[in-house]
Amino acid sequence: MAEELNFLPNITGSFAQPAAENPTVEMVEAAYRHHDMHYRYLNTEVAPENLAAAVAGARAMNWAGFNCSIPHKVAVIEHIDGLGESASVIGAVNCVVRRDGRYVGENTDGKGFLKSLQEVVDPAGKKLVMFGAGGAARAIGVECALAGAAHITVVNRSADRGNELVTLLNEKTPVEESVLEPWDGDYSVPAGTDVVINATSIGLADAEASLALDLGSLTAAMVVADVIPNPPRTQLVRDAEAKGCTVIDGLGMLVNQGITGIQYWTGETVDGNVMRARLEELFGD
Ligand code: NDP
Repeated sequence: MAEELNFLPNITGSFAQPAAENPTVEMVEAAYRHHDMHYRYLNTEVAPENLAAAVAGARAMNWAGFNCSIPHKVAVIEHIDGLGESASVIGAVNCVVRRDGRYVGENTDGKGFLKSLQEVVDPAGKKLVMFGAGGAARAIGVECALAGAAHITVVNRSADRGNELVTLLNEKTPVEESVLEPWDGDYSVPAGTDVVINATSIGLADAEASLALDLGSLTAAMVVADVIPNPPRTQLVRDAEAKGCTVIDGLGMLVNQGITGIQYWTGETVDGNVMRARLEELFGD
């Protein structure tokens, strides 16, 4: 198998910067190995000024597709041939897929989150409160709205970014209503909220970092989801568990966006448990 791979790999990969900080390679390669798939996932460091050449290189080598991380998620759009529905609304691409010889941009961040959420609750008709308005929040907000979420409250520190997201959701998705709440002091989650999401970077590489959130407003009827994959047991995850909430950690989103990407590139559905186990080895569970 290894020799075969040396001669004829179906290449997938990532255009990242810096390449060293990408756990996706470990997760995807674990799935390829487990299922004996004739694919490889290469992590490459691409500087912004080399993005056009990198995409041309992928075309020349007939890559099945590739992920893009910051800062390439928007810039890549002008170098590919089309966009999937949610990527077009979000305005960012994290996964490029070769379809009939064309490179099509998808956004699997939001799809990965949605899949994790749907494992515990269908967001259709539900009320969501989401902290954050950056790239992850945009992807999650759009995907949940396209899946039928009724009401999305965005809570964000910067009003400009928050307003931009709320306007996008109201104008470009079928959500009934999206509103912005300023984030000054501990935010109290309104009664009747079904799903609370941390889509900020608070908690990344800091297990003690906590959101300005009135924990007394969380109830056991709520689903609380965190996007932070590392460490997975964030302060929010621990606090929400203590309140009896149903909790989703950031590993689920990462694994599910990986499953979706692999499905797009190879047509095969891989075992998420193998991918999660590899991430847990890297991050701790
Ligand atoms: P961005 O930089 O685009 O956005 C960051 C967001 O966090 C902004 O809304 C920002 O608010 C907010 N924020 C950051 N620090 C603070 C703070 N101290 N107080 C209040 N708000 C704060 O990042 P992304 O959206 O791309 O990524 C966010 C997180 O999502 C990352 O940590 C990443 O690890 C995670 N992620 C996880 C994925 C997964 O598969 N599990 C996939 C993609 C991302 P403001 O607008 O006011 O600056």
